[in-house]
Amino acid sequence: ESQTQTLEAQRDDLARTQTALKRQARELERASRYKSEFVANMSHELRTPLNALLIMSRLLIENRTGNLSEEQISFARTIEGSGNDLLGLINDILDLSKVEAGKLDLSPEDVAVAGVVDRLRRTFEPLATQKRVGLRVEVEAGTPETFETDPQRLEQVLKNFLSNAVKFTEAGEVVLKVSPAGDGIAFAVTDTGIGIADEEQETVFEAFRQADGTINRRYGGTGLGLSISRELAGLLGGEIRLESRLGEGSTFTLTLPLHLDRDVVEREQPMPM
Ligand code: ADP
Repeated sequence: ESQTQTLEAQRDDLARTQTALKRQARELERASRYKSEFVANMSHELRTPLNALLIMSRLLIENRTGNLSEEQISFARTIEGSGNDLLGLINDILDLSKVEAGKLDLSPEDVAVAGVVDRLRRTFEPLATQKRVGLRVEVEAGTPETFETDPQRLEQVLKNFLSNAVKFTEAGEVVLKVSPAGDGIAFAVTDTGIGIADEEQETVFEAFRQADGTINRRYGGTGLGLSISRELAGLLGGEIRLESRLGEGSTFTLTLPLHLDRDVVEREQPMPM
């Protein structure tokens, strides 16, 4: 008799704890969603005035009336440069908050590997030439000519790899190599730059993390690129691997499936309110 009573009491306790836990989980989820929405809205609101500022500085740089001095034009260039840095940061924060809120929509398409590679080469050639770093692109025999993914997000990840590779390389070469990888396709960016120490190879993927404070003050950047890239790789059904040796260089490899899993796309739809 008393044993039954104890059991019943325990069961009631358990049920109460369960209800409390569920309520806490709901509250946490709401708070987290509120945070992501706040960040997304704020980023959006910041972009509007910033765009006006960028348009105006561009008009000054073009000096259509011809009455600005070289010095004034160079000030306008500084405004434009800093404005673009800020825009990049805001876009990164917006992307990260969208991924976290499950609000980043993917647009799967049949993507031509040659097109992706050409666009990236054209984008990074001027920067590489300016830094006197060689830029080479290789597509291994047997690589599929097309595959299904979200081209914009794919290029976002590869641009991040390439801009880091050029940024952290003072002499030598950056190579983008595309090859078949099991059932999928691999995009590897190799540089002969400063490299990343073993103990930093996991933390560089965390938001706002940079491998070495002193180095990064020299090179600039926000430390958001790789964390966004890792999230995007996951959304695209793939993964990122890093191999690096301090002082010798790094290889960042993005491996993707040839078809985008519909489940992944659907799971990432906005959460019901
Ligand atoms: P950011 O480049 O804006 O700092 P990322 O998230 O793209 O942010 O990179 C994080 C950090 O990882 C960089 O600050 C740098 O310390 C390190 N890193 C990334 N790519 C390379 C590379 N190719 N060579 C050396 N270090 C790198």
